[in-house]
Amino acid sequence: MLKKGPLLYEGKGKKVHSVEGHSDRIILFFKDSLTAYEGAKKGSFTGKGAICRNVFSLVFRYLKTQGVLNHWIEDRGAEESVCLKTHIIPLEVVIRNRLAGSTAKRLGLEEGNSIPSPLLEYYYKKDELHDPFVSEDQIIQLSLIKEKNILPEIKTQAFLINEKLKAFFSEAGIELIDFKMEFGTTSKGLILADDITPDSCRLWDMKDGWRMDKDRFRQGWGQVEKGYQTILEKISQRWKKELDEGLS
Ligand code: UDP
Repeated sequence: MLKKGPLLYEGKGKKVHSVEGHSDRIILFFKDSLTAYEGAKKGSFTGKGAICRNVFSLVFRYLKTQGVLNHWIEDRGAEESVCLKTHIIPLEVVIRNRLAGSTAKRLGLEEGNSIPSPLLEYYYKKDELHDPFVSEDQIIQLSLIKEKNILPEIKTQAFLINEKLKAFFSEAGIELIDFKMEFGTTSKGLILADDITPDSCRLWDMKDGWRMDKDRFRQGWGQVEKGYQTILEKISQRWKKELDEGLS
């Protein structure tokens, strides 16, 4: 078993550790904590880290079977995964299939409206600036990222990942409304990094529109744990056996 090294970084939802003797790997530890509004609202529930690790693992393993390069290597215990170390590109890449959250609010549009085709948005990852929305042109002309030459590749990957994930969730009876991705680079090029969990997606029940994701916590609707558990149950029921058996 790999030996966990020192803490490299602690974020709101995860801790990132190095791995002893393997400078190309990291261990992600998923915490039980929940935060919203840039950390101003805090909460937690026991087992949340394990649920998020399991959602992350199913999503990233599925994406691997679909040919989407990503940093997941293997799970470890209940709340951790071993991943490939990457250089994270400081962009939050958001895809929206239906209007919700900040964009609906900012533009005075109704939440839940459909969008003719998936909408891509970039947010510049800089805590002190509160991760502002940035246009593609701003990223390029203002050299906001060193890797600006790979922006076309990020865009293609983001739309592809969206198509794969829409299918992944819809086969489990869940509509993927929007989600956030982060990409990293390795010596081999661009790969999907960070995580995709109920903290970073909007996921609505296809039957009755019941919202199962972090909006339950953000908006104070209650039953946060039930929402997260339901997401994991639904995707596990559809995908776990297939992924565990390495089929698909
Ligand atoms: N998101 C995220 N981290 C952020 C901001 C957004 O994971 O720092 C996710 C969020 O959960 C949602 C999608 O990205 O699924 C779009 O978020 P939005 O811009 O609507 O912001 P919000 O109002 O949710 O903060």
